[in-house]
Amino acid sequence: MTYLSKKDFSQLCLGSSGEGGISQIYIPEIVRTLEEAAMGCPPVIWLQGASCGGCSISLLDNVHPKLRNALIKIKSLAFLQQPVANKNDFVEKVLTIARDYKGQFYLIIEGAIPTGADGLYCIVGEDADGRPISLLNLVKKLSASAKAVLALGTCAAFGGVPAIEPNPTGCQGVSKVLAGQTVINIPGCPPHSDWVIGTLVHVLRYGIPDLDGDLRPTLFYEGLDQGEEPLGYLTESLKKTSFS
Ligand code: SF4
Repeated sequence: MTYLSKKDFSQLCLGSSGEGGISQIYIPEIVRTLEEAAMGCPPVIWLQGASCGGCSISLLDNVHPKLRNALIKIKSLAFLQQPVANKNDFVEKVLTIARDYKGQFYLIIEGAIPTGADGLYCIVGEDADGRPISLLNLVKKLSASAKAVLALGTCAAFGGVPAIEPNPTGCQGVSKVLAGQTVINIPGCPPHSDWVIGTLVHVLRYGIPDLDGDLRPTLFYEGLDQGEEPLGYLTESLKKTSFS
């Protein structure tokens, strides 16, 4: 079995960002890291907010089949896909994970967070008294005890399409909502699957990677100007489009 040191892994990622693919010889090692995560702790909570679902779908569609299987095998992965019928069960489950694994679990957020009307545009469940629980409140609550927060895709990182003016739901990127907390941005619409897996493996095995001024892992985004993102021109062009 190939063993990947942090230095080897960084080199691999720098190559991958320029050439577009994780070498096949490293797949077993990366699968092993994901399977280790799958066997026990730490749990991963994955929430979808104002999202088209493309980030997770493209990840599962594009990633190497062995990596996809390892990803799906993360037993402690709690995944909220919108819309979902039994939201209350889900909210209870993730709050229990946050309580039981305080400071140990990872929170992945896909999509922007509606902050308008105190978050009421995105309700994820109800409390015991029947009062709505918003995604905004859930994210704030969970992030306070998460080991790391990952914002997956341009919508989660910077607001993306849902935050385009006039932005009636007040959508914002995760780092803006969680100002002052460490958030790892993995922008792209959707982000390259290697960059998602690479960041996840880095966080699970080596901890939080070096981040640039936009909170993006330099392993993958070095060389892109600050604020620049893959397909950023699309967001810019949409901003200039009138939908009225
Ligand atoms: S970043 Fe793109 S693919 Fe991901 S949720 Fe937003 S619009 Fe969809």
